[in-house]
Amino acid sequence: MANSKFEYVKGFEQPDHLMPNTWIVVRIDGRGFTKFANKYEFEKPNDKRALDLMNAAARALVTEIQDITIAYGVSDEYSFVFHKLTTLFERRESKLVSTIVSTFTAYYIHHWSTYFTDTPLSPPLPTFDGRAVCYPSIQNLRDYMSWRQVDCHINNLYNTTFWALIQQGGKDGTEAEQILKGTLSADKNEILFKQFGINYNNEPEMFKKGSVIFRDYELVEPGTHNVAQEVEQMAGEPTQQSKTQRDNDKKKRAKARVTVEHLDIIKDDFWDRRPWLLS
Ligand code: ATP
Ligand code: ATP
Ligand code: MG
Ligand code: MG
Ligand code: MG
Ligand code: MG
Ligand code: MG
Repeated sequence: MANSKFEYVKGFEQPDHLMPNTWIVVRIDGRGFTKFANKYEFEKPNDKRALDLMNAAARALVTEIQDITIAYGVSDEYSFVFHKLTTLFERRESKLVSTIVSTFTAYYIHHWSTYFTDTPLSPPLPTFDGRAVCYPSIQNLRDYMSWRQVDCHINNLYNTTFWALIQQGGKDGTEAEQILKGTLSADKNEILFKQFGINYNNEPEMFKKGSVIFRDYELVEPGTHNVAQEVEQMAGEPTQQSKTQRDNDKKKRAKARVTVEHLDIIKDDFWDRRPWLLS
């Protein structure tokens, strides 16, 4: 566009390029979903339709934005992890966050009627907020993912017990809260089992573990070694890949199937078997 006397205003924009060579995690969260869940009569504590819808929106987003290697979702939130070498939008934070939030929201609304077949959406419509955080090491990134999954576990055990006390035990919210005050995990498991015959271990995996979305390649058998990778690791993490290797990786990522699973992402096994997720 031609220069104009107005163009100086462009200079007011702040640079917001995120730290290179780090894992960018964008987490989105439903705004006011406590109210939203009441309005659409989400089943308590876990409405399967609502979780399936979150997963469908996230899966569509991951399929579309190939620089995302893994995503983890629970309740009304989803975390999307970009490949550490991503150059999407020159790693500009506002571009990355706003694109994730609007793409996710668009798919959430697009897929709504598939999961809530007889309740059309009406304003106030579902909206999401988002933030980006950079994690500089594999340990930090894995701890981030573990943090979200532990949160899922703690909340779900609490909510499952809380709602059993109300729905099957005839308590009101205040009474249920009082009963659960100061209880440990073992106590909640015992209340569930002794009072309601519920074995928490048999609850659906999606409720207990949340959902993890990733590009699926061939699984690596535990105990096998990739010599080239080990040599690279011994020499320190590579900061630059060759362009051919990057292009090949990109093609492989584009072709891989995007899957939704409900697995333990805290233990090493998940990551050991899928080394490409952190490479
Ligand atoms: P904020 O705007 O601050 O995020 P919020 O009301 O969305 O407020 P959250 O802490 O994000 O608060 O909690 C999400 C809420 O949505 C919880 O009340 C949770 O029970 C409800 N919710 C989300 N997904 C489901 C689901 N699948 N089934 C039942 N309830 C759900
Ligand atoms: P980016 O993703 O970088 O924003 P872009 O293709 O969206 O790429 P913009 O600079 O945002 O590029 O320009 C918007 C484009 O959309 C222009 O090509 C413009 O002509 C077209 N466009 C937007 N609104 C209209 C409209 N109402 N009628 C015709 N063309 C439109
Ligand atoms: Mg424009
Ligand atoms: Mg929030
Ligand atoms: Mg929320
Ligand atoms: Mg939330
Ligand atoms: Mg544009």
